[in-house]
Amino acid sequence: MSAVKNGRMHLESIRDERCIMLEGRKVSDVASHPAFRQSAQTVAGLFDYQAANPELMTFDIGNGRRANRAWQLPRSYAELVERRKALTAWSEQHVGFMGRSPDHVASCISAMAMRADVFEAHGKGRGQAVLDYYHHARDNDLYLAYVIIDPQADRSKATGEQADPFVTAAICDEDAEGITIKGAKMLGTSAVFANEVLVASLRPVRDGDDKYAFTAMVPIGAKGLKLMSRRSYEQGAVSKFDYPLSSAYDENDSILYFDEVKVPWDRVFVHRNPAMSFAQFHTAPAHVYQNYQAQIRLAVKLRSLTGLARRVCETIGTLEFPQVKEQLGVLAAQAGMIDGMVHAMEAKGRMEGGEGPLNQGEFFIPDRATLYSANVLAQRLYPQVIESIRDLAGGGMIMLPSSETDFGNPEIAALIGKTQHSPVTDAKGRVKTFKLAWDSVGSEFASRHTQYEMFYSGPKIFTAGHQYRTYDWNEATRLVDDLLDTYDLPAASAAGKAA
Ligand SMILES: Cc1cc2nc3c(=O)[nH]c(=O)nc-3n(C[C@H](O)[C@H](O)[C@H](O)COP(=O)(O)OP(=O)(O)OC[C@H]3O[C@@H](n4cnc5c(N)ncnc54)[C@H](O)[C@@H]3O)c2cc1C
Repeated sequence: MSAVKNGRMHLESIRDERCIMLEGRKVSDVASHPAFRQSAQTVAGLFDYQAANPELMTFDIGNGRRANRAWQLPRSYAELVERRKALTAWSEQHVGFMGRSPDHVASCISAMAMRADVFEAHGKGRGQAVLDYYHHARDNDLYLAYVIIDPQADRSKATGEQADPFVTAAICDEDAEGITIKGAKMLGTSAVFANEVLVASLRPVRDGDDKYAFTAMVPIGAKGLKLMSRRSYEQGAVSKFDYPLSSAYDENDSILYFDEVKVPWDRVFVHRNPAMSFAQFHTAPAHVYQNYQAQIRLAVKLRSLTGLARRVCETIGTLEFPQVKEQLGVLAAQAGMIDGMVHAMEAKGRMEGGEGPLNQGEFFIPDRATLYSANVLAQRLYPQVIESIRDLAGGGMIMLPSSETDFGNPEIAALIGKTQHSPVTDAKGRVKTFKLAWDSVGSEFASRHTQYEMFYSGPKIFTAGHQYRTYDWNEATRLVDDLLDTYDLPAASAAGKAA
């Protein structure tokens, strides 16, 4: 076996009994199906990249084996930065367009393992289950997805108040072997390409709704697990020239339905405990680590979109207009802000450790408040970035030949040459740039990306709530109180003797 997992090994590892529903049929082999195969190749390409760059991308896990640095548990600032460089390099492979690349949920599970003591305090054996699973997932360099949000049914009602108590996945049975899960979870991005899925509740679960307060790991090929895929964008994007992103980076999203799926106890991390359901993400640094990965990826994506905006302006000769320079400057500032915030999370990070049985010692944790600042700002900023690129591009993204095959017809190719002019490139170069621009900001794939960036970390009300919870209000209000303490009513006014 190779010392590092490569693409071929990953594609072999997902050739199983998985049940994906797409357009009225069941699909299992994503590596060969036209709705998934190009993106499956992109995933394989990530593992090939790590195999080709083992020092940058992987770390020694003993016995001559190496695993992706997403599984690395940083014991210092320097190790966190080393890990981030690997995550950045992976993001560059898909220019930030694979939101749930394998390093995302690996970051979450790794952070849970850092605080196995929290799980052990919740229930004997749960912490060991987390640690054992971490080692299993790391040693096999598994690609994990997660489903941690309840399906939208009636949001005015709590999970346990819905008309059907099993619209949201819940424990429906348990015995000496484990638990049985029944019901749905909202969206599993990349689940169709993954080995296993983490099922949990990120949002607080009400006391009394204990059957929803569980966390379990389930293989995607598990009996009873059904994945209902949304429409594939890559299936219609048959030409890379016409749809450079849709054709290669359609990471897929699917509703997961657990049709009485059995999970053994050693894959159950949280069992019927609302408080622990919250603590697994927030006392253990899982939420911060998974979203830190997301900001590293977003920094790459924004850098690329800013570069694209500049190329668009060069292509249509608007670059020297002062207003265009101003707009590009704002875009660069937005990209620079997220990049800078990633560095700030690291620089303001600190060592944190656990206590009691299964305490793993101290690890370096990115600064939570800075992370949540980035989350809150990024979900508002992304639609602005997209609108700005649309504004800079004008109708050029629509004034395009129908497909690359038009270039193969001499009569149409001649017309393309007469109509697609640019001060910096030929007709093909102009069409190529604008097809990329449309697939970045306007196509169905691009539109899904705007929805993704606006919602992957939660609706605005919840991300702002995390910032509210973690911001250092004492420091902020101390400044105000110190200032207020420097003055008072003038003596005359206080004594009622004003003129
Ligand atoms: C493209 C995409 C990919 C995703 N991938 C994943 C994934 O891989 N894994 C996963 O677990 N999840 C995934 N999600 C789900 C994502 O986490 C949720 O969309 C997100 O948490 C928001 O929840 P929601 O969609 O149910 O919106 P809701 O919570 O229903 O919110 C919708 C709107 O309703 C309003 N609202 C809701 N609740 C309140 C309230 N209490 N008070 C006031 N207003 C409220 C807000 O205006 C909000 O914007 C994905 C989502 C998208 C769009």
